[in-house]
Amino acid sequence: MGAGRYAPSPSGDLHFGNLRTAALAWLCARSTGRKFLLRVEDIDSERSTEESATRQLEDLQAIGLDWDEEPVRQSERQRKYKEVLAELEQRGLIYECYCSRKDIREATRAPHATPGIYPGTCRDLTEEQREERRAAVGERAASLRIRSDASSFTVHDLYAGKFTGVVDDFVIQRGNGDFAYNFVAVIDDGDAGVDQVVRGDDLLSSAPRQAWFTQLLGYPQPEYVHVPLVLGPEGKRLSKRDGAVTLREMGPVDETVRQLCVSMGYPGATSLAEVLRSFDAAELSRQPVTWPLA
Ligand code: GLU
Ligand code: ZN
Repeated sequence: MGAGRYAPSPSGDLHFGNLRTAALAWLCARSTGRKFLLRVEDIDSERSTEESATRQLEDLQAIGLDWDEEPVRQSERQRKYKEVLAELEQRGLIYECYCSRKDIREATRAPHATPGIYPGTCRDLTEEQREERRAAVGERAASLRIRSDASSFTVHDLYAGKFTGVVDDFVIQRGNGDFAYNFVAVIDDGDAGVDQVVRGDDLLSSAPRQAWFTQLLGYPQPEYVHVPLVLGPEGKRLSKRDGAVTLREMGPVDETVRQLCVSMGYPGATSLAEVLRSFDAAELSRQPVTWPLA
């Protein structure tokens, strides 16, 4: 039996868009006979709180989701991440990067560079150059990047179809010691037996990096389902600045659940369990949903 999952970052309450993605992840897993798992992505040590994680789990339960195992917290998996990092270091696939965000922004302004994609500045430095750069960055410790042998990778997404995207030498561990999202997400999905990844389509561009890394680590490829985001009144991704958008702010839970059902094309349904009876991910509208619903 495979597994699906929802993997929220605990840095505040989930809003209507997050709840909809969570509901879709649950529906996709349950409607295909998979287990459903939750993962608390609390790797960002500066923004994550346990209080927020607890509230998120309460909210997911309140809208009618259930899960099959104790939620995994990334903060409790540091040992595993260190082991994988050591193995990659041994394979000669890890190097130090001394670039600041600004350095990368400037480097990618050059002709032929693509903004946001690491151009490999620190990939082939000599040990002497590294000593110099280490001394120069001082306080700001180097981050660690993976040496990728691919420049792109193709994934299959239920909605986007065949999607080819960039695989650069992405960050594995930040200068402050936090492990990076692409690194831990792949390891956690792989170890948990997740074979269906449902999440917002803002992360579609990360999928080729993750799929490439999944292959490198020897895990089977999951199926990807990147769902359209909920947009706020101005047509941009819904955010807490758009008003009363969290479950606790939106009033009675039943009404929010009803709106979730409407947003997924089930206007008469009053619970997610009811939606599940006839849910088919392939039939979900690909159009973004705008909040508040008309
Ligand atoms: N933690 C990410 C988020 O809250 C989701 C990561 C994932 O599903 O892979 O958007
Ligand atoms: Zn660099």
